Amino acid sequence: MIIQDHAKDRSAGVHPITAGWLTDSEVMLDVLRLDKIHPVVSGNKWFKLKYYLEDVKNKKYSTIATFGGAYSNHIAATAYACKEFGFKSVGVIRGEQPSPLSHTLNFAQEHEMELMFVSREDYRNREVIKKSINDVYWIDEGGYGALGVKGASEILQHVHNLQEYSHVVTAVGTGTTLAGIIEAALPHQQIIGVSAMKGNEALSNRVNELLITPRSNFFITHNYHVGGYARYTKELLIYMNELWQQHNLPTDFVYTAKTFFAVQDLVENKIIPCHSKVLMIHTGGLQGNLSLPYNALLFS
Ligand SMILES: *Cc1c(COP(=O)(O)O)cnc(C)c1O
Repeated sequence: MIIQDHAKDRSAGVHPITAGWLTDSEVMLDVLRLDKIHPVVSGNKWFKLKYYLEDVKNKKYSTIATFGGAYSNHIAATAYACKEFGFKSVGVIRGEQPSPLSHTLNFAQEHEMELMFVSREDYRNREVIKKSINDVYWIDEGGYGALGVKGASEILQHVHNLQEYSHVVTAVGTGTTLAGIIEAALPHQQIIGVSAMKGNEALSNRVNELLITPRSNFFITHNYHVGGYARYTKELLIYMNELWQQHNLPTDFVYTAKTFFAVQDLVENKIIPCHSKVLMIHTGGLQGNLSLPYNALLFS
């Protein structure tokens, strides 16, 4: 196997959180720091890509193409991984070419990804786009699909005492990571997905479609999008700085800060009951913070 495994080389590690709102409910909270695995192919993106890369190699394609927005962690991770493992890459980007390019797109271009901009309308017809480019290996947006789930199901292998946790919480975009976690979780564990999107009602079905065996030990909450996907408020940025100052925990404004906030709110409202032992997955994505105003955060 030529695809060297980033996750095996670097220890993700669990980061215990101490806070008044936890002691009040006698809840224990640990954060699995997948953001530490790699600065770019960080968090869940590495897990989701890994079996696609293997498949590309086995099927002897030389080019990988995928989809994403101008700030997509998946685009950045795919560009980086392709360059590292010697594949050409094409990124089909939603919307007009921004000028200047976003830092994510600049990064992708520096890693030799060929960018193709398509209108939001055309972007909806991804099957048409796929047919228009020959001889490339397609990875769906966000790595959605069975191989993405297979990779994501290995995330929990990085937790030594997995059986001790009663709840596992993760951010949700496409639901691929959530599906992998559900697959790997133990029968007594409740899995909670925190959707980063506003009113994405199709999400539960999309996750169910990915599961090999149907499960009922999970739910998705839609209450913590803070205005919508990739939206933020001044309060959210303050909250992120507090997480950094109080817990030495860097978060991203699209997924992990909102997920941490959800954990706190669910504990305070006893939806996560007293005496629970919670594992929150830090799914990475810190590169996305580069799109925030300079100096908005006390960390980078
Ligand atoms: C992409 C991403 C997610 C969403 O993962 P899905 O598998 O698409 O649900 C969550 N967190 C971070 C930091 C991400 O970059």
